[in-house]
Amino acid sequence: MALTQQQTQKLHTSIEQRRNALLSELQDDVDRVRRDRHEDLAGASPDAGDESVATLIADLDHADVGRDLNELRDLEAARARLADGSYGTCADCGSEIGYERLKANPAAMRCIACQTRHEKTYGGASGSSL
Ligand SMILES: [Zn+2]
Repeated sequence: MALTQQQTQKLHTSIEQRRNALLSELQDDVDRVRRDRHEDLAGASPDAGDESVATLIADLDHADVGRDLNELRDLEAARARLADGSYGTCADCGSEIGYERLKANPAAMRCIACQTRHEKTYGGASGSSL
């Protein structure tokens, strides 16, 4: 069953809201990373222990930003699909994704069956390489 105009409008709104929240989150992340970098450079020479913790935190920061960036990319793709009218259609098999699934994840681009297969094939969460 295709999405009604009202359902599409609702999903559109949640995509926009999530996108705006993510954008300000990412901005905060970037600001924090920049500030931390600056403090590292300004600080006195740390011992090896401090340095490895600092490296770990930096890596975690990068991982967080990477996840947010991936979600932002998904949301951007969803907005493009809303614009060209392909939103709500599974990218793999072409069937309806379904309102309930889209309500839970407005950026979903596959039906549950195809998403499950995709995650099995590509191993779910991707590595940290950007
Ligand atoms: Zn599908």
